[in-house]
Amino acid sequence: MRPGDVHDPLLRQVLPLADELQVAAGFTTNPVGDREASRAAGLLQKYAGRALILTTGACAVHCRYCFRRHFPYADELASADRWATLVAQIASDRSLDEVILSGGDPLTLSDRRLAEMVEDLAAIAHLRRLRLHTRLPVVIPQRVTDELLEVLRSGRLTPIVVIHANHPQELDEATLESLARLVDAGIPVLNQAVLLRGVNDRVDVLEALCRRLVDARVMPYYLHQLDRVTGAQHFETPEELGYELIEQLRARLPGYAVPRWVRETAGEVSKTLLA
Ligand SMILES: *Cc1c(COP(=O)(O)O)cnc(C)c1O
Ligand code: SF4
Repeated sequence: MRPGDVHDPLLRQVLPLADELQVAAGFTTNPVGDREASRAAGLLQKYAGRALILTTGACAVHCRYCFRRHFPYADELASADRWATLVAQIASDRSLDEVILSGGDPLTLSDRRLAEMVEDLAAIAHLRRLRLHTRLPVVIPQRVTDELLEVLRSGRLTPIVVIHANHPQELDEATLESLARLVDAGIPVLNQAVLLRGVNDRVDVLEALCRRLVDARVMPYYLHQLDRVTGAQHFETPEELGYELIEQLRARLPGYAVPRWVRETAGEVSKTLLA
């Protein structure tokens, strides 16, 4: 962040503004149907083959547009006393081959706790892959420790790390180094971004973000249309803008560097591809 600049694109992601208090039609506290997707306390499933564990409500960032900003974490976490039930639930469903550790941010947990989780999940024979959805490599790059790499790499499950960066300025030297450590360890790293008014709603910014990602061997995966969560209405961009931005990115970048622009709609069988 540039000190003193209230329009700084990194600051805007975390700065509480009075705009959040406006009432906006269509914005709710449960924007993507998370509560309906609960299969056990701490376990969500919306899509075939993959289930998502809410490992913790803690996160290093607390983005103001977070789609889980009103999520009832207290009732819905995979806390220690619920863990065995949750593992049994995953073990009883042979249609699952991938588990996603999410939250909050799973990398706010200790390496020891993560190692226990990975070990319990690796013991479920039908699981093949373990995915982590985390912003920690971007915001606290020191979190990518040797121990963490060991935990992710040494198990039976194929690890995949999905980070969250929205603006090229989030990827400084220290961050690029943490990403290089993950990739050098043989772990595929993908990025999800959210299209945010006043942060990254210009083609030059998105282009620079995508270039910096692929130069760091991180593949742009999704660009999300904002989830319509109460309090985030001031971040929303018009749908036409998304189409224009993707078209311009396609004209400027190699195909692999252009993210899929998607929206999440409750009840659908996957994220909905917009362009
Ligand atoms: C978004 C999401 C996923 C991941 O979807 P992919 O398209 O595989 O990245 C999985 N589970 C839930 C509940 C999700 O919201
Ligand atoms: S990093 Fe993810 S979980 Fe954390 S506040 Fe931001 S959007 Fe929410």
